[in-house]
Amino acid sequence: MNSNQSLSSLFNSQQQNLDEVKNTIANERKEKLIKLKNAIVAMEMEILKALHNDLRKSEFEATFSELIPVYTEIKFAIKNLDRWMKPKKVSSEIQNILAKNRLYYEPKGVCLIISPWNYPFQLMIAPLVSAIAAGNCCILKPSEISYHTSVVLKKLIDKVFNDNEVALIEGDSTVATELLKLPFDHIFYTGSTVIGKVIMEAAAKNLSSVTLELGGKSPAIITNDVEIKKVAEKIMWAKFLNAGQTCIAPDYILIHESIEKEFISACKISLENQLPDLKKINYDDTDYPKIVSKKHFERIKNLIESAISDGANSELPLFFDEKNLTIFPVILSSLNDKSKVMEEEIFGPVLPIITFMTLKDATNQVKNKPKALAMYIFSNSEKDVDFLLSTTTAGGTVVNDLLIQFAEVNLPFGGVNNSGIGSSHGYYGFKTFSHERAVIFQSKINFTSQIFPPYKGKEKILKLMKRFM
Ligand code: NAD
Repeated sequence: MNSNQSLSSLFNSQQQNLDEVKNTIANERKEKLIKLKNAIVAMEMEILKALHNDLRKSEFEATFSELIPVYTEIKFAIKNLDRWMKPKKVSSEIQNILAKNRLYYEPKGVCLIISPWNYPFQLMIAPLVSAIAAGNCCILKPSEISYHTSVVLKKLIDKVFNDNEVALIEGDSTVATELLKLPFDHIFYTGSTVIGKVIMEAAAKNLSSVTLELGGKSPAIITNDVEIKKVAEKIMWAKFLNAGQTCIAPDYILIHESIEKEFISACKISLENQLPDLKKINYDDTDYPKIVSKKHFERIKNLIESAISDGANSELPLFFDEKNLTIFPVILSSLNDKSKVMEEEIFGPVLPIITFMTLKDATNQVKNKPKALAMYIFSNSEKDVDFLLSTTTAGGTVVNDLLIQFAEVNLPFGGVNNSGIGSSHGYYGFKTFSHERAVIFQSKINFTSQIFPPYKGKEKILKLMKRFM
């Protein structure tokens, strides 16, 4: 049997098992989630080691950004699943006044989850939690680039699930391409916008529904009435976490020109406070992650070098260590608008700073780019915040902080158009992996027969109905 046949027989085995998985009650699904959580807890050290091997994430960073979001999703789903699964009562219009309307949440079916390398553990397992809560079968395809984490993910999934319910297939884009030929009921993809389009095109052939969690250029806008030191500290943390390889990191800064210099000085001080070990970096024991691959190292280095040759000023000394895939934080000022670094998503430790004189200038800069996944606003003026919210759009926005939207399972997480389609997290993740089936229970007493033909003599009924419209 070749690998394409084995993928389709795996898919068929999940289809055959679907009825059983679909008809599970809330407690059975909760048991699966508890089993998954216990297996993760038992494998924590292995997971952390893999994340260190792939991205040199420190134990602290990996725990709070990879394990804790998954535990939060599991806990939240277990707490709320009975309520989420319960058919919802919905009111009726005059035509169906005596009928009972209900909304049933049925699983989408057999789903495909494809994940990226930057948060390789949680971006695979968190959507899986929602898929299990909603009663689906799933095939998982993690990123081949975060290879060590993929191996551990495979071990975890094999330990917890039978293949005919959840199976993980390792491999690169060729494997993903083969998987995409199968008629999945839903495809949940996290990754770049470019590949997001490939996924949507493939999904169209089977009319599979899609959730696309993509990237883009997320701005942070800073007005001139903020506490500069505090804002700089937050931005340095959010930008250089995971060495800038975070989909919701602030991609670039738009700052009122009157406070640019003070802000850059404050950024330098807070970087020294947050990452003092960069002065004498010990690669076995640093809080600063590496760039995931040589290809991305080269890509980011080229972005920096081309921005500087276009006239940008580097506010910090540059340091590239190709052997250890390390690029120290870079802050760029005096940028040329046409610079590549202001056109494509940076996804690395480089922070361009652009100044504005009026808020309108700032929003024009944002509106000239594709819709962002996140937008951050730092301001103490309610009026300015309202203006910025009403004149822009983004998948999500945080006012006076960054990244905290990711941990908030009570809100939907997702992009708009170029930065994504659909949403995840908590109830919104459950909904993403569910089909909302409209069900009407007709009453014994009903008026449907009143509108059967022949219509002559029944005009009064229409007149009566129109009176309620
Ligand atoms: P990527 O698109 O290169 O790869 C993601 C996944 O797609 C991998 O599993 C890969 O094997 C697969 N893939 C690659 N080429 C494919 C093809 N031709 N057909 C089918 N599948 C293919 O993305 P990446 O570089 O791994 O991740 C970085 C991007 O992801 C950034 O743009 C970032 O902003 C985005 N991202 C978004 C979120 C979010 O939640 N919105 C989270 C993390 C990352």
